[in-house]
Amino acid sequence: MQGLRPASPAQSDRAYVTLVTNADYATGARALLRSIALTGTEADRVVLHTPAVAAADLAALTDLGARLVETDLLPTSDAFNAAHSRRNQHAAAPFTKGEKPPFHTPLDNFAKLRLWQLTDYASVVFLDADTLMLANCDKLFGYPEFCAAPNVYESLADFHRMNSGVFTARPAETTFAAMLAALDVPGAFWPRTDQTFLQRFFPDWHGLPVFCNMLQYVWFNMPELWDWSAIKVLHFQYEKPWQAPHPKAEQLAPLIELWQSYAGGGDVPVPADLPGPQ
Ligand code: UDP
Ligand code: MN
Repeated sequence: MQGLRPASPAQSDRAYVTLVTNADYATGARALLRSIALTGTEADRVVLHTPAVAAADLAALTDLGARLVETDLLPTSDAFNAAHSRRNQHAAAPFTKGEKPPFHTPLDNFAKLRLWQLTDYASVVFLDADTLMLANCDKLFGYPEFCAAPNVYESLADFHRMNSGVFTARPAETTFAAMLAALDVPGAFWPRTDQTFLQRFFPDWHGLPVFCNMLQYVWFNMPELWDWSAIKVLHFQYEKPWQAPHPKAEQLAPLIELWQSYAGGGDVPVPADLPGPQ
C-alpha cells in the first residue's frame, strides 16, 4: 500500500473501486456510489482520489458510503507524461467516434493501476466513475483476474477489443510493480491509455458479457443488443451525462434522464420497466 493514504480501514475483503481526480469525476462517482448502494451489496466502495480533489467533493462521497484512499498519479517518467499529455494523445490517436470531455486528462487514467496496491482486499471490481450499477454484481468477486467486457458500441468487430471501464482484479504489489515496469518503457505510447495497456498486459483476458459494461452508444448504434433487464452496468463512455449540453445529448436523452435519477436523491426507475431504443 506504499503511496496510498486511506482515510479509514477496510470493512470487507472485497471492494468496488473507482477513480476520481477532479470535480467532474466526483460528480460521476456520486451517482455511481448511490447506484451501488441500492444493489444492497456488503462489499466496500473505495474511491481512489488524488490530492487535487476538493474536501467538499470528498465529503459528499464519504456520505454515500465511500472509503476514501488518497493517492498520487503514477511515478512515470517525463517522456511518458509528455507522450500522454492531452494534446499529444489527441494528436497521435485522434478520437473519431465521439468526443472526450474537456475535463478528461489521459494521464490520470493510468492511476487506475493503483488498485493493485489495495492489498487489504482479496478481490476487487473496478468501475469507471462514469458508470451506473443497475443490478447487483457481487458474483464478479468470485471471478478470476483478469475479466473485462468487450469494447462493443458499433459493430461485431468491436468484440476483439476490451473496455477497461469494468474489470475484475486481485490486488498484489508484485503485479503492480510488474505493471509499472512494463508501462513506462522507452518510447512507450498507449493510444487508449490504461485500456490499451491492460489488454496488452493480460492478452488472455477473460470476457465478461457485454451487459456487465453496456456502452451508451449501443443505444443508437446497435439497438438490437439493448436489453434493460440484462444490463448490470451502464457506461457513459465519451460524452458524460452531466455535461450540458453535449453533441449526443438528444440521442441519449433517456439514458441521461436515468443517470440524473441516480445523481439526484429521489426514486430511481426499475430498469426492466424502461422502454427500449426505438
Ligand atoms: N478519470 C479521472 N480523471 C480524468 C480522467 C479519467 O478521474 O481526468 C477516471 C474516471 O474514473 C473515469 C476513468 O478514469 O471514469 C476513465 O475515463 P473516462 O471514463 O472519461 O473514459 P471513457 O470511458 O470515456 O473512455
Ligand atoms: Mn468511462
